[in-house]
This record gives sequence, C-alpha cells and structure tokens, in this order.
Amino acid sequence: MADAVTMDKIVSLSRRRGFVFPSSEIYGGMGSTFDYGHYGVLMKNNIRERWFEAMVRNRDDIVAIDSAIILHPKVWEASGHVAGFTDPLIDCRTCKLRFRADKLEDSQCGLKPSKHPGETPECDLTEPRRFNLMFETTVGALQEEGSRAYLRPETAQGIFINFKNVLQIARRKPPFGIAQIGKSFRNEITPGNFLFRVREFEQMEMEFFVPPDEAEKWYRYWIDERLNWYRRYGLRDSKLRVREHGPEERSHYSQGTSDIEYEYPIGWGELEGIANRGDFDLTQHAEYSTTKLEYVGQDGERYVPYVIEPAVSIERIMVALLVDAYDEEVVGERERTVLRLHPKMAPVTAAILPLIGKSDDMVAKARSLYEDLRRRHSVEYDDSGAIGRRYRRQDEIGTPWAFTVDEQTLADDTVTVRDRDSLAQERIPIAGVGEWLEGALERDWKSPKAN
Ligand code: ATP
Repeated sequence: MADAVTMDKIVSLSRRRGFVFPSSEIYGGMGSTFDYGHYGVLMKNNIRERWFEAMVRNRDDIVAIDSAIILHPKVWEASGHVAGFTDPLIDCRTCKLRFRADKLEDSQCGLKPSKHPGETPECDLTEPRRFNLMFETTVGALQEEGSRAYLRPETAQGIFINFKNVLQIARRKPPFGIAQIGKSFRNEITPGNFLFRVREFEQMEMEFFVPPDEAEKWYRYWIDERLNWYRRYGLRDSKLRVREHGPEERSHYSQGTSDIEYEYPIGWGELEGIANRGDFDLTQHAEYSTTKLEYVGQDGERYVPYVIEPAVSIERIMVALLVDAYDEEVVGERERTVLRLHPKMAPVTAAILPLIGKSDDMVAKARSLYEDLRRRHSVEYDDSGAIGRRYRRQDEIGTPWAFTVDEQTLADDTVTVRDRDSLAQERIPIAGVGEWLEGALERDWKSPKAN
C-alpha cells in the first residue's frame, strides 16, 4: 500500500493531538514558529535522552557541556560567521517577495504559485545580495557600538571555546568529544515545511577531537554510528541515505561533509550533517583570543586536533520520526490513524484503561496499576468514553501498549495488553506488568510499515 503520509497530515495531527501548535496564534500567529504541547515535549525529551545516552552516557570518551547562548561577539568573528554566515538573497520588485538565490527551484512565484521566481514575464528580480543569518541583539542598557552581540546560530562554537577547560579539568586526551544540546537561532529567509526549517531550533552537536592523521577514520566512524542510531530507532532503511558533499558545496571550514538524508514528503532533505572541520576552529580561536588551543602530550608531543562533528536538530528528527511512523488503515471496517513510533520515542509508553469507566472496582485496580507504573514510565490513565475511542486516541499519539482492566481482572488479577501495531491482545498477571513493560522496551523494534 502506498504511504499515506503528507506534511499536511503531520501538521494537522500534531495540532489536533497537542504535539505542536503554531506559535502566538491568539495574536495572528508568527510564521514558521512553533510551540510544543504536552506530547511534543514528551517526544522531544525522548529524542534528547536517546541522543545523550548514545553520545555521552554510554561512552567513556565524550563529556557534556552547556554553554551560553550569547557569547563574546569575537567568537563569531573568529568562527567566520560575521563575514560568511550568509545566504544570497533575491527580491522580486513585482510581488515584493524575497527568495534564496540558491533555492529558486524550491520557491513559488508570488503571482503564479505554479511557477518558480523569474519564470513569468512579470517577475522582476534583483541581483543577489548577501544576508547574514545571525540574529543580533544588544547587551546592557546602552545601545551603543560595542554592545552588539548575537544569538548563537550553532552550539559548536560554545564547545570550541571550552576546549582548554575540558582538556585540563576533565583530563581528556584525543580522541575525545564534547557534546552539547541547546537552542540555536538563524534568521532563515525561507523557513517552512513545518519544523524542518525554523528560526529557533534545538541542536544536538558533538565535537570529536582527534589526532590529525586519524581524522578520516573517525569521520567514517561517525557517519556509521549516526546512521545506525536512526536505524535503531526505527527509521526505515529505504528512507535513509548518506550523501557526500562535493568540494564546491562544503562550508569554509570543512575538509569533508556528509549529510544523512531522510526522504521527507517534500523529498530528500538533510537530517543530520557530519563534517570533518579539520583544525579550522581551534586555530581561529587561538589566533583571535591569543590563547593556545592545542594538545600537549606527556612526551612533549603537541598538535592542534582535528574535529569531527555530527550535528542535528531535534526538530528535523521529530519530523522524520512522525513522517516515518504515520499510518492509516482500516480495521473491522473502521479507519484508524496510527503513529508507529519506536516505543522509546513514543510520548506515552503505555495507557492504563478500565474497560468500564463507571465501574468503581475497575477504576480502583486501574488507578493503582497506573500509580505504580508512573514512577518509572511515561504512562497515561484514561477512563472516559467508549474503550474503542480511547484505543484510537492512544493509536494517534503512538502509544505502543494499552493495559486494560476488565471483568476478568476482578476475578483473577490479570489484565489484557493490547499491541498498537498488531492489535494482538494477551493476558498477563497484573503483578507482572512492570516487568513485562521493561522487557518489551528492551526488545529490538522494527517498523511494521511497508518500505
Ligand atoms: P540547511 O542546508 O538545511 O540549511 P545546514 O547545512 O545549514 O542546513 P548545519 O549548519 O549543518 O545545517 O546544521 C546542522 C543541523 O542543524 C542540520 O543538519 C539540521 O538538522 C539542523 N538545522 C539547521 N538549520 C535548521 C533550521 N533552520 N531548522 C531546523 N533544524 C535546522
């Protein structure tokens, strides 16, 4: 069966079920800015947690950092962002819209949306101009020269400027990495496609410092590691690919860049970038700050490490997970929408439902199971409405399992477990539910969606 997913369906489900709302709606909205509702927050927490676990907690060679969002303005001079973090911009004098000169094929003409800018006789385009994507702000009470600062457009620089601290205080030696999760801001000219391109997003970046002659090996290693992470969390192989940049496409600092791409409903797009940044950043900061940023070994060996960087945003992962999970099917003549999310990514791990919401006995048993499970898991209790409706609600938010307390529970203390994907039901003792859930969460999981 063809994949039923479209970006519109994802946007509408996200809104209907309270994952993501358009921001500032009561004031008429703020284009391409979003607020996360309860399930969106839970899902973002899961994405963050799974990344942190793979990149920091389960490793001996990577430590965490949380740097400031507003850094010394010189950081962005050294990094090349003040001079070079720009997109080429074109204005149309007729429709007054603004486009990225390098993305005209992805844009729509303001007068004739079926055409690209420049394709109608009325189009009157300016020459491209450079436009810096950094948001500026002023620090302190006086808006004078010297108080200008920027909101960080990437988290990476906050890592480089702490290289020396980590080397000395965390007593690390290359190869080692520093990981950071936090908001980044870019004044994107053409944001859009839901969360795919937004002006504020949460980046997860890791800078891995290595001896220069090992850079190529580690670059390949991180491409594989990151690709495997997406596979582990259920993204289908047919929707993932690695695309290596040609020399003309690479950023100024890069010695090699590969994108892990996902096939979004809008086509293949960058999910995560893995770059070999060479010694560019440490060398620049050493020069601008006049602080030596190098590794000195006990035997006197010294060098400026090369850096391998996997960089991604929670937003792009969230869209990929939602798109990959979205499914529609007809079961017993009724249509259901279901998010077939990996159980460790789903906002709610299990629903606890009394079959009859008005039965005090069932409610008491279900509540007690819920109170027990909520200490360790993200679980939800629901006793309102028909059971079928409650199941479908959980299907739509991607809850992998539901435990239902029914008539038989009152007689023998067993509950049914309903599986979101197969709809199979089995009975297990109520006392064993916690253990059952732990086991189920550790099982390998593969998307039941056809490729
Ligand atoms: P693009 O070419 O799509 O603008 P980029 O190459 O500028 O992306 P990087 O600077 O490599 O992106 O940023 C690293 C990661 O941060 C990207 O792979 C993506 O996951 C995420 N990211 C970048 N810009 C945005 C954005 N505007 N909204 C959401 N996520 C973003």
